[in-house]
Order: sequence, then C-alpha cells, then structure tokens
Amino acid sequence: MRVLLVGGGGREHALALGLAGDSSVEALIAAPGNPGIAAVAELREVNPTDPSAVAALAVEVGADLVVIGPEAPLVAGVADAVRAKGIPAFGPSAEAARLEGSKTFAKDVMLAAGVPTARAFTCTDAESAGRALDEFGPPYVVKNDGLAAGKGVVVTEDRATALEHAGECGRVVIEEYLAGPEVSLFVVTDGEAALPLLPAQDFKRVGDGDTGPNTGGMGAYAPLPWAPDGLVDEVMRDVVHPTLAEMRRRGTPFAGLLYVGLAITAAGPRVIEFNARFGDPETQVVLALLETPLAGLLHAAATGTLAAHPPLRWRDGAAVTVVVAADGYPAGPRTGDVITGADRPGVIHAGTARRAADGALLSAGGRVLCGTATGPDLAAARDAAYALVRGIELAGSHHRTDIAAAAVEGRIALPD
Ligand code: AMP
Repeated sequence: MRVLLVGGGGREHALALGLAGDSSVEALIAAPGNPGIAAVAELREVNPTDPSAVAALAVEVGADLVVIGPEAPLVAGVADAVRAKGIPAFGPSAEAARLEGSKTFAKDVMLAAGVPTARAFTCTDAESAGRALDEFGPPYVVKNDGLAAGKGVVVTEDRATALEHAGECGRVVIEEYLAGPEVSLFVVTDGEAALPLLPAQDFKRVGDGDTGPNTGGMGAYAPLPWAPDGLVDEVMRDVVHPTLAEMRRRGTPFAGLLYVGLAITAAGPRVIEFNARFGDPETQVVLALLETPLAGLLHAAATGTLAAHPPLRWRDGAAVTVVVAADGYPAGPRTGDVITGADRPGVIHAGTARRAADGALLSAGGRVLCGTATGPDLAAARDAAYALVRGIELAGSHHRTDIAAAAVEGRIALPD
C-alpha cells in the first residue's frame, strides 16, 4: 500500500512511525512532514488546507490511502477532495468534521442523540454571555465556537475574565463546569462500525499541578489504571454509537477518528468535546502501545470494511509522553533556537525544522518535541520518558515535571 500522510506535527510523527511499521506499507509519503518524519517517509511540499492541492498530490504519488492528521484540512474539505479522486481517505468529510469545527453543532448533535454532556448556551453578545455565566456560576467555562487549535477554552473563577474571552471570540459556547478526572478516548470508525483505542489522559495546562493557561497539551499517558470498570463499553453505548447514528440520520456519516473528550463526573462520564482527528499528544502514547498494523486499520475505516477487521491487539505495559515546549509557550513561543539531543528513538518531533545552511535542528513551533517511552508499567514508562527529555537541550525550553505522576502514585480519585 502507498500511503500519503498529511500534516507535520507530533501527532503526524507518531502516525508516521505506526504507518512505517506496518509491513503492508510499501511507500510512505508525508506532506509537509517534519525533520523527525523525514527518517521514515519521503517528504513533499503541500499546503495541507488546500483540498485540490492535496488531492492532486495523492494522485501524483499513486496513493492507495491518504491519512489526514490535523483538523484544519478536514474542516477545509481535504478528505472530500481526495475521495472525489477515487482514493480512500482516513478522515471525515467537511460536513462531518463540524463535530469539531463548531462547538454549537457538536452540542446540537449531542442533544439530538441523547449524549450526556454539559448544559450549554451559545452567545454572541455581552448581555447573553453575562446571563449564561450567571445561570451556571463559577467556575466559568467559555469556549470559542470555531477551531482554535485546542486553545479556545477559558476555565476561570473570575467573571470578568470569562466575559472578556467571550468578547474576544465573538461567538462562544458557555457551559456548565464538569468536575472529575478527564479521559481521552479515540474511536476508529467507518461511519457505522467503531473500534475504541486505549483510553488516555492528557495535560492541558502549561504548569505543574494544572496551573497556568491552557495549551495544545503538555503530555499524556495510557492506559489509565484508575479508570472505572466498563468505562469504554459505556462510552461506546451511550456516546459513540448514538452520535454515529445521528450523523448517519443527518446524511453526513462520520468516518475517521472520533475523539471523545470526557470528564468522569459523580453522575458518570460526560462529554467535554468531540474532535474529528487523533489528539496530540495522546496519539504518541496510544499508538506506542498498538500492536495491530496501523495502515490496515485506517484503510478498513476509510473503505467501510471495519466490521470485518480483527479485534485490536495491544502491547502489555504503559506509555508516557512529555512535551518539551519553547520559551514563551503558549503566549508567544520563541522559535529558531538550536536543539541537540533529539536524535534518539522515542523523541517525537512536533515543531522542528532543519536549517538550510548546515542541517542543524531548530525549534519551529510552540510544542517542539515529545519524549515518548513505553515500559512494563506506568512508573517505568514515566522514568524512561523523563530520561529522554533530560537529554534534550533547547535554550529556554520548559516541560511539566508531573506528567502521569498522580496516576503512578494512585492519587487520582473518582468523584462519588
Ligand atoms: P476543549 O478544547 O473543549 O477540550 O477544552 C479544553 C479543556 O478545558 C478541557 O480539556 C478541560 O480541561 C477544560 N474544559 C472544557 N470544558 C469544560 C467543562 N465543561 N467543565 C470543566 N472543564 C472543561
């Protein structure tokens, strides 16, 4: 199989490693890719959000499967354009990607499908935003209605801060605060059949102890030793299948990766958000544990044959990833600094570039690298991931020191 992978971040590096490790893949092409992906794929230039450019590249390279990593190309209709050329694409149509592209749309689908989630109002002016904030009380949750690269959400005790975010975004969803540990569940689906991957947890806040502003994600681990028994079955029954059925009923079936972000509240699992693609950095840990060949799985989802796919196989043990972020991230990351120590297995490239003059590795984004490791248990995986991070040198960089710590120490309590 010839596979074209679209994107160039840490998620795509993890996907590239999985795809390259599948013996059915005879050629892997990544566009635009990154210096880490270059070790396992041929890189091509493309504007990832230009549907006709990506489709033309898929034809040119003779792709049998196009895997679309980030959300922006999906919302732009890249999967539709690829499929219009008769090439299977892993990723939802633009219509179905609205589950991520519009928080209001996602809430509407959840309501119609009876999916448990926070009560919410969509607001477009200060007066209605103020009313919604007062309806729920603190902590206030204000979400930009459109795509915001995982950073459009403000959770705050301060009403003025909440109102200010609403004003900056224009159109927002204001919702009830959900208290409880968070779970990310990835589900591979062809629109009807659906296979859950291992649940993972990510760390959104920039600082240790969940302090500071939200980021794209500062680390992750899987599996979750503290997850309630039967969690995945419950979420498949109460969330995933009703949502897929509602999308089919609307004539816009969702095929690709449905990312279910959940809070495990006292009343049970509640959906925080849907995404239409693999999450970053949870992908790094989930795929590190997946033994089933990745290209075959994604091809089955892209061709409507997932019901015939064998059950997924997982490696024993656990995986941890720790993000190394640039100085100033998330507010204003500094780029262009030289990185050393990144040339080791397990170091995933998220925001890097090669200097043309001498090939030196440079920082080129807010989240620069991820140290990803597996181990026989969570403690061992955590130690190995931090050993990788300690070997990376990047001026001014920072990382959280508590990724997976509470889980290792048994400090995660489910609300009763
Ligand atoms: P989202 O982009 O919707 O995933 O939101 C980013 C982060 O904000 C989530 O991972 C949660 O930590 C937090 N968050 C979002 N919605 C809620 C909510 N209703 N209650 C509590 N925390 C939330």
